[in-house]
Amino acid sequence: MTSLPAPREPLRRVAVIGGTHGNEMCGVHLARHWLKAPGELQRASFSAMPVLANPAATAACRRYMDRDLNRTFTLTFLRSEATPDDPYEVTRARELNQLLGPKGTDQAFDFILDLHNTTANTGVCIISESPYTVFNLHLCHYLQMQNPDLPCRFLEYETSQNETYSLESVSKNGIGKAFPAFEMEGYRKLGAVDFPRTSDGGLAGTVHPRLQDHDFEPLRPGDPIFKLFSGEDVLYEGDSIVYPVFVNEAAYYEKHVAFLKSEKIQISVPALPGLTSSPTVAS
Ligand SMILES: [Zn+2]
Repeated sequence: MTSLPAPREPLRRVAVIGGTHGNEMCGVHLARHWLKAPGELQRASFSAMPVLANPAATAACRRYMDRDLNRTFTLTFLRSEATPDDPYEVTRARELNQLLGPKGTDQAFDFILDLHNTTANTGVCIISESPYTVFNLHLCHYLQMQNPDLPCRFLEYETSQNETYSLESVSKNGIGKAFPAFEMEGYRKLGAVDFPRTSDGGLAGTVHPRLQDHDFEPLRPGDPIFKLFSGEDVLYEGDSIVYPVFVNEAAYYEKHVAFLKSEKIQISVPALPGLTSSPTVAS
C-alpha cells in the first residue's frame, strides 16, 4: 500500500502544452490553433495558457534538436549556469521553467497538460510521474466516464532517477470542484525491455507479431516477445504476468526500449475536496 500526497490549493492556472516533441502532431496542431484562439481554452474558474514547447524541433518536425526536452526538466539542468554551448533543449527548459515554474515553488502553474503522440498502440493514456496525484487520477476517471467507448488508461511512470524530469513536473496541481470518491484500475511501470541485439549493438530481431499493437494486454511467461532475424522466437521469461506499454515506440529505439513492462494496480481514490485521508494503492 502506498500513500499519495493530498491536493493542496484550488486550481487557478493551467498550461496546455504541445510540441514538447516536435514531431508529435496532435499537440503541435492544437497548440498552434489555441495560440491563435486562446479564448477557446478559457473557463470561468481558471485560466488556461497554450504553449508550443519546442519551436525549433517543431519547425524541423523532429522529436528534438540536441536532446530530449522531456528529459531535461531536472533541477540539475534547470539550476545549472547557462553557457553559450548549452544544448538548445537545455536553454528551452530553463525558459519554460521561468514561464511555468519555477519548479518546486509556490509561483509554479497549478497544472500542466502536456500533449503527446506515440507510434505504439496505447490508445488514450494519461501518464503521471511518481509521486502521482489525486488530481491526475480524478482527471483520468472523468475522461473514462465521459467516453466509455474510448478507454483512457492511467500509467504511473516512476522514473529510474531520483528526481522527476518531464515538463509536467514543473507544475503544482489542485482542483476547484468537488468530485466523489471512486475505485479505478491503473498500470505501474516496472521496467524496460530492450530489443535483442548483435554483439556490436545492432538489432538482432524485432517485436514479435503476437506482441505488436497489444499494449496493455497481459503478457504471460512463455509468450513470444521478439522475432529474431534468424527466424527464432524469443519468449518472455518473467515469472508473472506483466502488461506491455509503448510496444515498438519509434522514438524509444535510441533509448534501448522495445517496450515497458507494467503491472496492473487497483487504486482507491478519495473524494475532492475535503480529503480526510490519503488515497491508497493496492498492487
Ligand atoms: Zn512525446
